Parts: sequence; structure tokens; C-alpha cells
Amino acid sequence: MAKTKYIFVTGGVVSGLGKGIISSSIGKLLQARGFHVTIQKLDPYLNIDPGTLNPYEHGECYVTTDGAETDLDLGHYERFLDHETTQANNITTGRIYRNVIEKERRGDFLGKTVQIIPHITDEIKHNIQAVGNKGYDFVITEIGGTVGDIESLPFIEAIRQMKWEMEHDCLFVHLTLVPFLEASQELKTKPTQHSVKQLQQAGVQPDILVLRTEHELSTELRRKVGQFCNVDLDSVVQSVDQKTIYQVPIAMAEQNLDETILRKFGMEVGEKPPMIPWRTFLQNFYNPQTTIQVALVGKYVELPDAYKSILESFIHAGAVHKCKVKVKLVQSEQLTKENVQQELADCSGVLVAPGFGNRGIEGKFVAIQFARENKIPFLGICLGMQCAVIEFARNVLGHTNAHSTEMNPDTPYPVIDIMESQKNLTQMGGTMRLGSYPCSLKPNSLASKIYGTDKIVERHRHRYEFNNNYLQEFEQAGMVATGINPESNLVEIVEIPSHPWFVAVQFHPEYRSRVINPHPLFVEFVKAAMEHSVQ
Ligand code: GLN
Repeated sequence: MAKTKYIFVTGGVVSGLGKGIISSSIGKLLQARGFHVTIQKLDPYLNIDPGTLNPYEHGECYVTTDGAETDLDLGHYERFLDHETTQANNITTGRIYRNVIEKERRGDFLGKTVQIIPHITDEIKHNIQAVGNKGYDFVITEIGGTVGDIESLPFIEAIRQMKWEMEHDCLFVHLTLVPFLEASQELKTKPTQHSVKQLQQAGVQPDILVLRTEHELSTELRRKVGQFCNVDLDSVVQSVDQKTIYQVPIAMAEQNLDETILRKFGMEVGEKPPMIPWRTFLQNFYNPQTTIQVALVGKYVELPDAYKSILESFIHAGAVHKCKVKVKLVQSEQLTKENVQQELADCSGVLVAPGFGNRGIEGKFVAIQFARENKIPFLGICLGMQCAVIEFARNVLGHTNAHSTEMNPDTPYPVIDIMESQKNLTQMGGTMRLGSYPCSLKPNSLASKIYGTDKIVERHRHRYEFNNNYLQEFEQAGMVATGINPESNLVEIVEIPSHPWFVAVQFHPEYRSRVINPHPLFVEFVKAAMEHSVQ
């Protein structure tokens, strides 16, 4: 088998340029040529993982099948490549230091002074190569942060060493910004030159530059950048803003970025892959026949990144139906019985989002009651399912002060309660019920029709669960459990069969939706919303 090739993606000038999208696009193009590819993210912060971070800090926390709480870029990797990532695909400085310190405590360093170089850099290299050793043709490693940050220095040093040790198997891609100055109508290359200088000072010479820009770049400009930065013209690629991130692989292919990469590795280039399924998705995305609006009710409305995977899932599902799905982010803190009609009148579906804590919780019940009573398609995810259960207990079963013990530990009706396994935990990080669990679907339920099977596996991230002591009472009143974990008996899905489309799930379907393989729950929810909107 050929040796694994490593592609490192760094960023300069400003953060938020879309290194994750460029990494995903390169991965997609190589995968389309038949290569086995994975993408890894190295994050320079000290948290062991982003699981303990507030969404305001870091957007959504993405959960992998093996239960790792990871950076939201891993969601892009999975959505683009339709390939599962694991804990090994997201490594933070915190994790690197923890591993090294644990080795030091065990005495593994045999009395040596433990230092950033070589011990931390060795640990970083080990974590990159550990992914490569799983048999991939390409490992794309995205370095979080911006070149020049103090905290990313050990990562840059580690990849410099890797290139030195395995020259022909490593390649550096550097993403920068070419700003446009409105006043003088000029595109400016100086920030890119400075950023590359900074990389060079750290001993890294980029092989390929990707220039993020709002306007097309002339060949002259690209030549100039290449000349200043020791990069040949073919390897200076522009990344102009696109209508959708899913256009980026095509935009990169048009500039032969994949061919350039293969050539630089001395590999055979071969035919350009047609990428038919991907192009079909784009075709559908650009040519919608209808438009619908759905409400996403949550508390992070000013921060769409908190709901990244849900928003992307709607894009995938919408394309299946050639339907543009507009998502109205509704602040649950402001929803009341008085304004709910007005707030949700223009929505033909309601999704209540995952979340933690008390803030905005009452508004979620209001939204659910409105969707339930007015027969509007409803999808509840994680906390959204728990809220659907509480709302039903309060307004149908008449347990007016029913609640989750997360919000009210003293509720007389704890219809959502902490899981047994969670009761004695003292640590917050990485201790929820995380990752993939199997679920059996009740025959003839809406869920089993949606999935077209009776056994599914979905990803979780929660501490609380449906309290089975109340199951019989719920089912008699019309809310039934249609998805059950076969080992633990935990309720994973509830439905209201007398409602046209009311499904609430304890897991996170949004982590499994892909461009080429959209999630059936989103596909069918959008369909139900489309049908509702024409009524
Ligand atoms: N806060 C709830 C729990 O921990 C729901 C979590 C979620 O929505 N991800 O069970």
C-alpha cells in the first residue's frame, strides 16, 4: 500500500476564513478520485474538548459516533465526505498536554526534562500519524487559529518537523484573505505576504495558497502573490465567496486544485471525476420549485453557529424536494401565549432545538402547544423532545407543574429525570450519555415509516431522560413511545399518532445528515411542512 500523504491546512490574516470548508473541499475532490481520505482538526485551546464550552464561545458542539464532543468543523468534514470521524479527528492543546503530563507522571520520560520541543511536538506528530496509520491515502489536518498566534506555535513547529522528516509525503496549504478596499477599489495582497512571511519565519514554506476574496482575482495579482511567496502560479488559487459552501469543491476543481496536489505529491493525476451526485444536489439547491419557512425555536437565535448541523440538515433535505427551506430563528425567551400565533403564523413547521438550562424554556412549551393543537408539523430534538413531553404532561395530562429535574429538581411530576448513570458524577467534561446507541422502532409507527426500517443507530448528548414511570399514562392519553433503546429501555422517540406529524427524538439526527445522504427525519419533516403549507 502506498504511504499516507499528509496535507496541512493553516490560515492567516484573520480567523473565520473557512479553513474547514477548504479542508472539506480538498477532501471531497480527492475522495471523488477514489482515494480514502479523512480530515482532522487540531485546536490550539487548553480545553480537553469543546464539550464544556458555551455555544457563545465556540458554536455548536459536534458529537461523533464514538461519543467525542468535538469542533463544529468535524460536522463539515462528515457532511462533505459522508465519512465518520472519531475522537482522533479532533485534538486540542489541552489533550496534548494532558497526555504528556500523564506520561511524565507514569515515569515514561526516564528522568528527562519534559519540554515543548520535543515532547509536546512529538505528541502532536504522534496524534497526526495515528490517524494516518489507520490506512488512509490522505490525512488532511486543519490547524485551528491563525498563524502568528502564540498558542498555535507548537502545532506549526510539529508540522514543520513532519515535513522535514517525510518531505515527499507532506504538503502545506495556506489560506489567507485578500481584502478589497472600497474607497480605492483595490484588492490588497500585503496581508497575505505578511502572513506567509510569518509562516516562513516558523520554517514552513506553503506549497499552495488559497486566497479568500470577495472579488475575482486577476492572473496578474495571483502571479504577484506567488512571486512574493515562492509559490508557482498554478498553486495560487482563489476562493471567491459562494452562494453555498457546497459550491466550494466545484470552484476548487475548476482551478485544478486537486490535480495540483496530486502533481506535487508526484502522483498520477488521471481523469477529472464528474461528481454527478454532488452536482445534482447543487442543481436542486439552485433551482427550487417551492419555498417554505420553518421555525427553529431556541435561545441562541443571534448565533446561528449554535445550530450549525440543524441548519445544514435543512439545506440537504430541502434539495431532495427542490424546496428552499427558510429557517426562522425564534427566540424562545420572547415567546408567549399572547404572541405565539403572530410569531409562528408564517411557519409551516416547528422545530424545538437542543439545549441546556432554564433560560427560555417556557417559550418552548408555548411553541410546542401551538404546533400540537394547530396540527403543525413538529420535530423536537433532545431538549426539544423533553419539552414536548413536559408540555404534554402539563396541558394534556393536567400535571400543571410537571418539569424536568434539570430545571426544577423539586417538581412533583418529574416526567424528565436524570439518568441513573448520571446521578453520582462529579465531573462535567465528557460525562454525558454520548455517541451512538441503537434504537428499536415500533412497527407501523411514523418513525418506522420515516426510516424504512425497525432498527436505527443515532448519536446522543444528554444527561436527562424520559421517566418510564409515566409511560403508560402518556400512551393512554395519546403520546406514544415509538423508539426504545433495546438494552436500557430508554425512550428515544415519542409521537402523537392523532397529529399529522409530531415526532420528538432524544438523539441528534442533525449530526448524521449529509449532502449526498440527507437524514430521513429532516427529509420527511420538510415534506410534511410542504404539505402543510399548501393546505
Ligand atoms: N439538557 C438536556 C439533557 O441534558 C438536553 C440536552 C440536549 O439538548 N443536548 O438531558
